[in-house]
Amino acid sequence: MKNIIEVENLVFEYPHEKGTYRAIDELNLNVKKGEFVAIIGHNGSGKSTLSKNLNAILVPTSGNIIINGMNTKNEEKLWDIRQAAGMVFQNPDNQIVATIVEEDVAFGCENLGIEPTEIRKKVDESLKNVDMYDFRERQPHLLSGGQKQRVAIAGIIAMRPECIIFDEATAMLDPSGRQEVMNTIKTLNRDYNITVLHITHFMEEAVEADRVIVMEKGQKVSEGTPKEVFSHVDELKAIGLDVPYMTELSKLLNNDGINVDKNILTVDEMVGELCRLK
Ligand code: ADP
Ligand code: MG
Repeated sequence: MKNIIEVENLVFEYPHEKGTYRAIDELNLNVKKGEFVAIIGHNGSGKSTLSKNLNAILVPTSGNIIINGMNTKNEEKLWDIRQAAGMVFQNPDNQIVATIVEEDVAFGCENLGIEPTEIRKKVDESLKNVDMYDFRERQPHLLSGGQKQRVAIAGIIAMRPECIIFDEATAMLDPSGRQEVMNTIKTLNRDYNITVLHITHFMEEAVEADRVIVMEKGQKVSEGTPKEVFSHVDELKAIGLDVPYMTELSKLLNNDGINVDKNILTVDEMVGELCRLK
């Protein structure tokens, strides 16, 4: 399978009063077409700096980033890169540009110079993909947080990206909004084969990914399936991260002599284990 994202020895340094501050320190990372990858890491570990590099908002101090075969240092490819790898940010209010939902969704396509009839089709399809078609004539500022994020996602998918990078896109939402957005992300990945890079501090969301990457101090410190990564409870806690609630619970049960599988990630798995013991 081809790589949509290739990060080769990425170093990114911010200018600082006394010299520079290294936010990304020799990071290597590949994401294959169709993969769903989650990135977790403590505040300040460099996740947003990485995502901005992937979208060519920032360019590497050294090393290379190749998005769908295009190097982000190639300024001529800037719009192709942003079209191939769309970004959804944390705050939905900062991403709304128009006063009507469908106009907002059309905005990116208009910038790409796509024909109006074609835009109409893409906007309608995208709104249906995120289950917001019935809201197409509403005013975005009257929607819930989860609905606003889905409108933002529709604006990205209208541009037919290979890949979408979500930088803590669920962080400001209430539990139901988070669930709506997670369901949308999973559908886009599973049914439309859109590659997903999901940066999150919710471990329950990371569990849904094919692969989890753990960042710390600008480096990748761990990587694997959710089962592999979350089996290292103590290491994760040592760098200030949580494990999924059910992993935590299985550890507590084992401490009390109830021998459930220690590698449980979800409520369903916990229920299965408890039924088995009974
Ligand atoms: P995360 O998204 O994982 O919380 P960031 O990528 O935002 O981490 O930040 C990584 C490090 O870079 C932090 O120490 C942060 O203070 C620093 N940093 C982020 N943005 C800037 C900036 N614009 N100028 C200087 N330092 C920054
Ligand atoms: Mg961040």
